[in-house]
Amino acid sequence: MRIVFLACSSWVSNPYLGGVSIAIVRDSGFALLDCGPKAPERIALCGLDPCSLDFVLVTHMHGDHVLGLPTLIMWRRFRCPSKTTVVVGAKPVIDSVRKLLELVGCPQHREVELVPISVGEETEIMGYRLTLFEARHSIYSTVVRLCVEGSCIAYSSDTAPCSAIAEASRGCSVLIHEASGTDPELMHRIGHSTPLDAIEAAAASGVKRLVLMHPGLEPISVPMRFSDLTIVVPHACYEISS
Ligand SMILES: [Zn+2]
Repeated sequence: MRIVFLACSSWVSNPYLGGVSIAIVRDSGFALLDCGPKAPERIALCGLDPCSLDFVLVTHMHGDHVLGLPTLIMWRRFRCPSKTTVVVGAKPVIDSVRKLLELVGCPQHREVELVPISVGEETEIMGYRLTLFEARHSIYSTVVRLCVEGSCIAYSSDTAPCSAIAEASRGCSVLIHEASGTDPELMHRIGHSTPLDAIEAAAASGVKRLVLMHPGLEPISVPMRFSDLTIVVPHACYEISS
């Protein structure tokens, strides 16, 4: 399994980053975890074939996670008309995706299949094993555990610290965790996490690799305990001064 970060920011952030979309790539195709506004163009820019998409998993309905979906569906409708675009997610999310596609005039005929899956139960789709857990966010959102080709990854999507992260990341090689800001009181109040929350979640679950994403207007800054050192995780076009 390869993980390609097509877009890794939040709704209001550096315009080059363009919301959230992560490709889980296997030999025969790839799945998308969320589909932010930049996702359709990034698929090809990052070396993937949009016609090889297996499915899109939408974690929740914030625009930075879903607003690329209508464009991706329309692109595939014309470029690979024999392929159905499969969209999966928890039932409340799939119900909202259906409304979104209706509102923006994106037809739902044979080219789109919306697949609600149960939260808390493992579901197999096209050889991927998916488990969703309810997150702690400002709207209904889900934490994802995905296993394919013998390895598992966990993806927090947007959430304040919650027990679902540990459940989702048990035995995983990688935890992809949001780190929206550094003020824990503010972040938790609006349903988000800090870099330190993400590090603690990674340490508790025993994953070997932690990916921090979803910064706001500021780059992700990782405060180190017992030290004045701060580690910054840069993203394209962000600037820091010395
Ligand atoms: Zn969100």
